Amino acid sequence: MSNYILFIIIVTYLAALFFIAYVAEKNAKSKWVNNSVVYTLSLAVYCTAWTYYGSIGIAANSGVNFLPIYLGPVIAAPLWILLLRKIIRISKQQKISSIADFISLRYGNNRFLGALVTIVCLMAIVPYISLQLKAVSETFQILSDDTSYVSTSVYDDSTFYIALLLAVFATFFGTQTTDASEKHKGIVISVAFESILKLVFFLFVGVYVTYILFDGTEAIYTKMSMADNFEALTTINGFEDGFNWLFTIMLSFMAIFLLPRQFQVSVVENVREKHLKNAIWMFPLYLLLFNIFVIFIAWAGNLTIGNPSQAEYYALLLPLQNGNTFISVLVFLGGFSAVISMVVVATLALSTMVSNNLIIPYGFLDYFIKSHPERNAKYIKNIRRISIFSIIIIAYAFYVNFSFELSLYSIGLMAFVIIAQLAPSFFIGLFWNRGSSKATIIGIIAGLGIVFYTLILPFSLHALNGSDDLVQYGLAGITSLKPYALFGIDFLSPPAHAFFWSMLVNLFCYVTFSVLEKGNYRERNYAEMFVDSKNYTDLQDGALVWKGEAYVADIKKVLVKFLGEARTDRALKLFFRKYELPLDTQMADARLINFSEKLLTGSIGSASAKILISSVVKEDEVSLVEVLKILEESKETISRNKLLREKSKELTVLTNKLKDANQELIEKDRQKDEFLDTVAHELKTPITGIRATTELLMDDDDDMPLEIKTQFLKNMLQDSDRLSRLIHNILDFEKLSKGRTQLNIKKYNIRETIEKTVESLRHIADKKQVEIINSNKSDLNAQYDEDRIVQVLTNLISNAIKFCDAKGGKIVVDYKYGDGYLEVTVNDNGKGIPAQDLPYIFNKFYQSKNQNIQKPEGSGLGLAICKQIVENHNGKIWVKNNQKRGAIFGFKLPFK
Ligand code: ADP
Repeated sequence: MSNYILFIIIVTYLAALFFIAYVAEKNAKSKWVNNSVVYTLSLAVYCTAWTYYGSIGIAANSGVNFLPIYLGPVIAAPLWILLLRKIIRISKQQKISSIADFISLRYGNNRFLGALVTIVCLMAIVPYISLQLKAVSETFQILSDDTSYVSTSVYDDSTFYIALLLAVFATFFGTQTTDASEKHKGIVISVAFESILKLVFFLFVGVYVTYILFDGTEAIYTKMSMADNFEALTTINGFEDGFNWLFTIMLSFMAIFLLPRQFQVSVVENVREKHLKNAIWMFPLYLLLFNIFVIFIAWAGNLTIGNPSQAEYYALLLPLQNGNTFISVLVFLGGFSAVISMVVVATLALSTMVSNNLIIPYGFLDYFIKSHPERNAKYIKNIRRISIFSIIIIAYAFYVNFSFELSLYSIGLMAFVIIAQLAPSFFIGLFWNRGSSKATIIGIIAGLGIVFYTLILPFSLHALNGSDDLVQYGLAGITSLKPYALFGIDFLSPPAHAFFWSMLVNLFCYVTFSVLEKGNYRERNYAEMFVDSKNYTDLQDGALVWKGEAYVADIKKVLVKFLGEARTDRALKLFFRKYELPLDTQMADARLINFSEKLLTGSIGSASAKILISSVVKEDEVSLVEVLKILEESKETISRNKLLREKSKELTVLTNKLKDANQELIEKDRQKDEFLDTVAHELKTPITGIRATTELLMDDDDDMPLEIKTQFLKNMLQDSDRLSRLIHNILDFEKLSKGRTQLNIKKYNIRETIEKTVESLRHIADKKQVEIINSNKSDLNAQYDEDRIVQVLTNLISNAIKFCDAKGGKIVVDYKYGDGYLEVTVNDNGKGIPAQDLPYIFNKFYQSKNQNIQKPEGSGLGLAICKQIVENHNGKIWVKNNQKRGAIFGFKLPFK
C-alpha cells in the first residue's frame, strides 16, 4: 500500500478522534460521557502496543509467559472496591491531580519527594512512550510497500509527524483548564472509543486467522503440537519459572495502580465512585477477551511465517501474506489506537507532574507571586503544553537512538520495575501512619540504584557498545555482583531479578527508617488524614494541626494570583459561610490555611501550594505531643459522639415502646368501660321488667284477673331466665377470653357430636317447621372439647333457626377434611346478614339490624363466645352470605 494512502488514513482517523473528543467536551455533563462503561474502557488504556503486538511475540517465542502481565490487574480488580475507592476519595478531597501529588502529600507535602516521584515516572514512561512510537513506525513500514525505506532525516520520518500530531491532540484536550484535577472528558472518551476499536479489531484478526486461514483452534493446536519446542511453549518450567511468574504478576499488580496513565484514568478522571462496582468485573472481562486469540495468532504465525524476530507483528503479517490488505489496515489501526491512547494519557499525566512537581516549585514560584493572575494561568498552561511536547520529542529521540535495542516486552517490563519503586510508600503509606518522607526518599533512591545496576546499566552498555562483560563477569570481576545474578540468584529473568532485589532493599529502607525516626508534625498530620481517611471526611479542613499567625488578606492575595479575583471571592465566601465566620474575619485559622492550599493544589500541585501559602504565613512548629493530643482529642470527640448517638438511639426505641404500651393501656381501659356500660345496660333491661311487674302485683287488691296475673308471673320468669342466661354468658365469655378455661380435649367423632346437637334442638326447629339436614354420614375424627363444640354448634344452629322463615326454613350442616383442618359449616336460607355488619358480627354484644322481632331475645354474646371457643382450639371461625339467600357460618379445627 502506498505511503500516502496510509498517511491519509491515519490523518482521517486522527481527525475523527478530534471530533469525538470535541463533541464529548461540549457535552461533558451527558450520560453518554459519564458512565461505568466509559470508565472501564478508559481503564483499558492499560492495553498498549505491548499488549497488541508484544503479547503475540512472547507467545510465539516463549509461550504462556505473556499471561502474568494480565493476571496482576485481574487479581487487583476486586480489591479496587477497598483500595481504589480510598485513593479516589482522598484524591478528590485534596484535589490531587497526579501520583506524584498523591505520594508527596501523604508524606507532608514534601517538595523533594514530589520531584523524585516525577523523575521516577519520567524514567519509566519516556522509554515506554518511545516503544509505542517504534511500534507505529514499524507497522507503518510493514504496511507500506516501500520496505527498503529507511528514514534518513527526522523530516522524512512519518513517525515524527505522527508524534507531533499526538502532542497537538494531548495539548489541546489536556490543557483546557489550569486546574489539572479537573476532568478531561474529551480525552477519556477518545480513549474509551479506542479501547473498543483495538479490542474489536484484535478479535477480528483473531477470528480471521483462526477460522479462515486455519480450520479453527483445534487444527492449529494439532499442527503446533508436532513442533519441536511445543512442550517448552505450553508449560511453566517448575519452581524457577514459578518465581518468574509470581514476580511478574506482582509487578503488573502494582503497575495497574502506579502507572501515571492508570492513576490518571482511574483516579483523576473518575467521575463517580460507584463506577468502580461495574469496573471490577468488566475490566477483567476486557482483558480476558483481549487474550483469547493471542496464542492462536502466535502459533499460526509460527506455522506459516516462522520468523522469531518478526513474531511481534504476526497479526499484521498473516493477513498481509494472504493478500488481505484490508484486514491488515484494520490491525494497524487497532495497534495505532492502542498507541495513541497510551501516549496521550501518559504525556498528559507526566506533563502535569513535570509542571506541578518539578518546574513550578523549583523555579517559577517567585515569578508567579509577582505576576498577574491572568498571566499566571496562561503561564501554567504553557508550561504544561511545553512539557507535553518535550516529553514526546524526548521519547522520539530515545526511539531514534535506541530503536534497534528496544523490544516491546523488555522495555515495557523495565518501565514496570522502575515504577514499582513507588509501591512501598504508596501502598503501605495508605495504611501505616508511621511511614515517613525521609524513609520514602531513601527507599526509592536505593531501589532505583538497584534497578539501575541490575537492569538499566547492562541493557544500556549492550546498546551503546555491544559489551556484555558486566553481565558475564560482574563488577570488577566479582561473580556475586553479576547484574543479572546478584548474590548467586541466577534463575530469575532480568526484570524479575531486578524487581526482587530492588523491592527487598526499598521495602527494608522504608520500614527501617520509618521506625527509626518519626516524621515532623506536618507529615504525621497528613499521614493520619490518609490512613484514617474515613473519619477525616467530616473534619477535612480542620484536620490540619497548625499553629501560627496569618492574615486573611495575605492569603487572599496569593489566591487571587492563581484563581482571579472573582473565583477567590466566591471560594472565600463559601468558606466563611460553611464555618459560620463573619465575612470580615481578619486572622486566618488552620481550616482556612488548609482550604487555600487545596484550592491551589489543582493548579500548581500540592508542594507549590504549600510553599506559596507558607510564604505569607508565620508558622510556628507544633510539637509532636501537641499534634498527638489534638489528634487524640478529635478521635475522642468522634467516638464520644458515636456513643452519644447510640445511646440516644436506644432511648428513642425505649420511648417508642413506652408510648405503645401506654396506648394499649388506654385502649384496654376504653374497652373495659364500654364493656361495663353494655353489661350494665343489658342487665338493666330484664331487671326493670321484673321490678315493674313486681310492683304491679304488689299494688294489686285482688281484683286482677287470674290469667293476667299468670301472664305477669310468666314474664317475670322469662326476665329472670334472661338475666341468669346473660350473667352466665358474660362470665363464660370473660373466662374464655382470659384463657382461664381448661379445654377437655379428646378424640371425638364429629358426626356424633353434630347428631347430638341437632337432636337437642329438634323440638325448637319442629315448632317453627324448620328442616335441619345433616346428610353427611362419614365418620371423621378430630381432637376437641365436645361440650364446647356442642355449645358452638348449638349457638350457630339456633341462630340459624331464629333467622329462618317459619315453614320452608332449611338448615344444612356439613363437614369435611381440609389440609390439616376439620371444617364444619352451617348453612341456612334465612334473611342473611347485611354486608356492613359482616366484619363485626363476632364482636361481643353486637347485634345486627336484621332482627326478626322488635325486642331481640339474644344478648349479642353468642358468636363472640363461639369465636373464643374456636380460637382456644387454635381454629378459625368465619361467616359469609349465601349467594341466594341466608348465611353460612363455618369453623375449622386443626387435627393431628
Ligand atoms: P344473639 O344472641 O343476638 O343471637 P349472636 O352473637 O349469636 O347474638 O349473633 C349476633 C348477631 O348476628 C345476631 O343478633 C344477628 O343479627 C346476627 N346473626 C347471627 N346468626 C345469623 C344468621 N344465621 N342469619 C342472620 N343473622 C345472623
